[in-house]
Amino acid sequence: MFRNFIDGEWVLGTDASKNINPSNTNDVIGDYARASADDALAAVAAAKAAFPAWSRSGILERHQILKKTADEIIARKDELGRLLSREEGKTLAEGIGETVRAGQIFDFFAGEALRLAGEVIPSVRPNIGVEITREPVGVVGIITPWNFPIAIPAWKIAPALCYGNTVVFKPAELVPGCSWAIVDILHRAGLPKGVLNLVMGKGSVVGQAMLDSPDIQAITFTGSVGTGKRVAAASVEHNRKFQLEMGGKNPFVVLDDAELAVAVEAAVNSAFFSTGQRCTASSRLIVTEGIHDKFVAAMGERMHGLVVDDALKAGTHIGPVVDQGQLNQDTDYIAIGKQEGARLAFGGELIARDTPGFYLQPALFTEATNRMRISREEIFGPVAAVIRVKDYDEALAVANDTRFGLSSGIATTSLKHASHFKRNSEAGMVMVNLPTAGVDFHVPFGGRKGSSYGSREQGKYAAEFYTTVKTAYTLA
Ligand code: ADP
Repeated sequence: MFRNFIDGEWVLGTDASKNINPSNTNDVIGDYARASADDALAAVAAAKAAFPAWSRSGILERHQILKKTADEIIARKDELGRLLSREEGKTLAEGIGETVRAGQIFDFFAGEALRLAGEVIPSVRPNIGVEITREPVGVVGIITPWNFPIAIPAWKIAPALCYGNTVVFKPAELVPGCSWAIVDILHRAGLPKGVLNLVMGKGSVVGQAMLDSPDIQAITFTGSVGTGKRVAAASVEHNRKFQLEMGGKNPFVVLDDAELAVAVEAAVNSAFFSTGQRCTASSRLIVTEGIHDKFVAAMGERMHGLVVDDALKAGTHIGPVVDQGQLNQDTDYIAIGKQEGARLAFGGELIARDTPGFYLQPALFTEATNRMRISREEIFGPVAAVIRVKDYDEALAVANDTRFGLSSGIATTSLKHASHFKRNSEAGMVMVNLPTAGVDFHVPFGGRKGSSYGSREQGKYAAEFYTTVKTAYTLA
């Protein structure tokens, strides 16, 4: 039994949930304790009690703990990457890649701990000095989704600790394995008791108890739009800082002058890698008339070569969908797309493999319009639609015609169009001749419109959320 971690102790919950491998539902990774609402409140109390000392801890101590954690994650990348792929279903290469990234994030914030700085500036009044410093916010609540089981916890926990906050962390119920491993590593790296608390279990119980606690000063959340709205409402109620990363309906534009191979590679990656289960995935491929037919034919050929199989098998390109609920959502949307009049050009069938799992052949619709539900609602699976447009201007208008704004991409050899798209795309992250997903760990991540709320995550921009600014005046 993998236990919760509260106030420096590994504790049982009310019951446990089984962590099941989506590539093989007979494979149970382990039993993970489910916390009660009272456990969540005990975790908040522990984090509150630990805050005064941790917020004043030395930067060298924070640096060393984060650095040790980074080193252990990277040293164990094969084992942890395997655990990740086993519990979430992305391929082993993707699982190991994500694990390395988590290590790099801890490494980055280990460095940031040594680079904390303020500003000293003159007052407009004589003989007065002004100091501007950043202080930790307090107890930070971290609520994470299942699609990046190690990277998202890393990119929230590392900055929270780096800047001197204490943490109550609730991972997604589907993938507690990597989160448990990170907490275990940080604990052994020397984190004082109460500074980081792990409460696994149901969102409606554990997460909700966190939202309702007046002692959490900030909540960072990645997940669905619906839950994000609850986080926002509860946070306003408690006058607390909050940051949301939610859905996407990211456009990938292909212009007549694109290099076909570059466009197809980026589109296949954007739409289908990690089984389409990335908030930065692209499900709208917006293609100009002159290249449309060639692009669709090349996509079909490329998709034909994609191997959908057990995430842990060598040679697999696309792992299974994460669970039955998500698979139902994907197949429902495939049915909706057909009813709406789009043409299912390739894939979309459920497929059987050697082991019982949630296998779906990546699906590509053509003849779609941007008004269809498959073009407006987030599906979160390996399902994409090609929307034919006349020219660049129409492509840009269609790309921006969405309530979301996380990432976007364009395939073009035109400097003019690339530059114009970078400036005018209504997204937080814009990619030129690259997939809409796949971002660096040291630069800001986040979106606009209905995708995100609050300041950016990752890189030095993370300081904005995890600190509060103080302005001090001194008479000389
Ligand atoms: P997804 O569709 O990615 O599972 P959710 O928004 O349901 O998106 O889940 C994201 C995270 O939010 C998970 O850790 C989940 O347990 C948590 N969660 C779900 N419901 C609530 C809630 N009412 N309050 C707080 N957290 C919740």
